[in-house]
Amino acid sequence: MKCPFCGKLNTRVVDSRPGKIEFEVRRRRECQACSQRFTTYERVEQVPVMIVKKDNRREEFDREKILKGIQKACEKRAISVNQIEEMVDTIERDLRESSEREVSSKVVGEKIITALKAVDDVAYVRFASVYREFRHVADFIDELKGLLPQECQTIELDQMATSGSDTIASSKAGKGGQDD
Ligand SMILES: [Zn+2]
Repeated sequence: MKCPFCGKLNTRVVDSRPGKIEFEVRRRRECQACSQRFTTYERVEQVPVMIVKKDNRREEFDREKILKGIQKACEKRAISVNQIEEMVDTIERDLRESSEREVSSKVVGEKIITALKAVDDVAYVRFASVYREFRHVADFIDELKGLLPQECQTIELDQMATSGSDTIASSKAGKGGQDD
């Protein structure tokens, strides 16, 4: 850091403490040439992360949107506000720390799916079914199968998958039947 008084480059930090705003450090420096002291502030650079949508439109990353999506998936589940905040924090940090300035919305969706999967199966399937636009009940059942313990993944679900016209509601009933 250049000394603002004499312009020499040899300054040393004599004190360092958190600034008034988050992600800021306040440093007291002393010039080794002229002994003058001055203060510098160091902040985390907030570069906007652009989300590339399916139709190639760009949109600035919006934390609120992700929060709402996750909240919706977690409705009436035993998931605390803190847990939801943590998921959003992790996803946001991931995106901001990545060197990529543009991220496809698909990547963001998959990050949400991964986060939900670790917290709650129902919230995860809810989000994944809307997000991945399951077109066939078979896709949905494939997803459900991944949630069952290995020994439960037997014929019953496969039969349902091939009958085709089943609704998602009846496949849920089928999943319940596995617990008998
Ligand atoms: Zn100086």
